[in-house]
Amino acid sequence: MGKQDLPWEGGCRCGRVRLKISARPMLTMACHCTGCQRMTGSAYSLSAAIPSEGFEVTQGEPVIGGLHGKVIHHYFCPHCMSWMFTRVEGMDWFVNIRATMLDDAGWFTPFIETWTSEKLPWATTPAEHSYAALPAVEDFEVLTKEYMGRH
Ligand SMILES: [Zn+2]
Ligand SMILES: [Zn+2]
Repeated sequence: MGKQDLPWEGGCRCGRVRLKISARPMLTMACHCTGCQRMTGSAYSLSAAIPSEGFEVTQGEPVIGGLHGKVIHHYFCPHCMSWMFTRVEGMDWFVNIRATMLDDAGWFTPFIETWTSEKLPWATTPAEHSYAALPAVEDFEVLTKEYMGRH
């Protein structure tokens, strides 16, 4: 994974918002929940959890979309409305970027998949760990260690 050297760059469909990633992912994920199905217009979302200090918006001003919730903040390009990344209130040490925003997402494979209880019947991923809903909070530390130790 990540054969090319950091930093990685990425952007939305129209190119008005650009991102720079200068730290390796802590975890990669596919989420099959119906919320992600709706927001991606597809079978699942793809995320890479990037340490916050390694994440930067270099151009444009993403806006809140999606749930407009108090805890989960979904960020979109204000023009093309691509769903670009997610921040979770109270967990500000990482940003979940949508992996397909990267200019080169060819390295990406989901290490875990979540919400398989809501997945489309045909939808499968190569994830090594599957969860009917979400892993327990304490499992994330183990998964992160396993993933980072390997990549
Ligand atoms: Zn855009
Ligand atoms: Zn989801």
